[in-house]
Amino acid sequence: GAERTKNVLILMSDTGGGHRASAEAIRDAFQIEFGDEYKIFVKDVWKEYTGWPLNDMEGQYKFMVKHVQLWKVAFHSTSPKWIHSVYLAAVAAYYAREVEAGLMEYKPDIIISVHPMMQHIPLWVLKWQGLEKKVIFVTVITDLSTCHPTWFHPWVNRCYCSSEEVAKKALLEGLEESQTRTYGLPIRPSFARAVLVKDELRKELKMDPDSPAVLLMGGGEGMGPVKKTAKALAESLYDKENEKPIGQIVVICGRNKNLVASVEAIEWKIPVKVRGFETIMAKWMGACDCIISKAGPGTIAEALIRGLPIILNDYIPGQEKGNVPYVVNNGAGVFTRSPKETARIVAGWFTTKQDELKTMSENALKLANPEAVFNIVRDIHELAKQREPGNFPYELTSSFTSII
Ligand code: UDP
Repeated sequence: GAERTKNVLILMSDTGGGHRASAEAIRDAFQIEFGDEYKIFVKDVWKEYTGWPLNDMEGQYKFMVKHVQLWKVAFHSTSPKWIHSVYLAAVAAYYAREVEAGLMEYKPDIIISVHPMMQHIPLWVLKWQGLEKKVIFVTVITDLSTCHPTWFHPWVNRCYCSSEEVAKKALLEGLEESQTRTYGLPIRPSFARAVLVKDELRKELKMDPDSPAVLLMGGGEGMGPVKKTAKALAESLYDKENEKPIGQIVVICGRNKNLVASVEAIEWKIPVKVRGFETIMAKWMGACDCIISKAGPGTIAEALIRGLPIILNDYIPGQEKGNVPYVVNNGAGVFTRSPKETARIVAGWFTTKQDELKTMSENALKLANPEAVFNIVRDIHELAKQREPGNFPYELTSSFTSII
């Protein structure tokens, strides 16, 4: 139509791989559904505009996640509302001008937060500027179950929940039912919409065409017991009596470069592919029959779409803990921290327990939400249509900073 292009600002941070993946999924879905109607900016405005502690969430997160106990304490001690809301309001006041500059550079008609720390401050800034009725603010939750309460803020226009459990929590945290929608975790359209044929993928990826394949990974950073599990699988997937492999393996190490080297150094007697950070995860998953990973929400949601039974071997305390029962209780996978046990289970799935593998694959597909990202952007589009047309919010007030 003749309407002007609307600006969409997606707020994210590279704490883990999942927030960026979700942000890019939403961007791509807007592009596919609405083309030039929306202009999308994916930004870490904290990093670009503010100072400590907001500008180094990535570093702090990486440090704490490496020292798991520290992260556990940080996650749970900041959970009570009076603690994080006082803290965030103080930080908001301190960095108001900088955050404002960051937000206003992109003149957003719509702000989408895909990060637990990006509700309070931008919503305060919008309120101080009298923009809360003009700019649409929505949260897309990228955790599957046990999510931190800072995800929920009563001033949002919408809170997109990734599961029923998250939706229940949203109500407990004071959101109205009319503010929530439960479509599932947004996954890149390349996952959701791709038509993939396993045989062709195997050829393209130069894998063995016939033997069953297991994908081993540990999120974007290559975390969890990847190396030990690779070693155990090197043993369990080799039939010593008949001197032949009973399966093949793909190990994706993400950004963990040391891991690539140490997995390559294993004495492999079965077909193996070892990779660093991969940009074609949909293809690798499509070429395999099951997956082993830490309980990252992105990896889980993607594996479900591909119908891969999941062996969860680790989780980040706090936000990933609840992902384990989500997968296990729905019959889409199992949890074990033991590399030996993991290797035994995979060998079973590839030989005597193929029925179990098949049932779990069906359960995974039942749990999958490939359309979630499209439902989210369509709903945001409806919200945008309800706002009075042609009113460019930023021409109404001349100087925002003078208000504060
Ligand atoms: N990923 C990827 N290439 C890699 C490793 C991981 O694209 O080499 C993607 C993966 O497909 C998923 C995300 O990174 O979308 C990882 O998100 P998850 O929530 O599982 O874990 P996180 O890394 O955020 O802890």
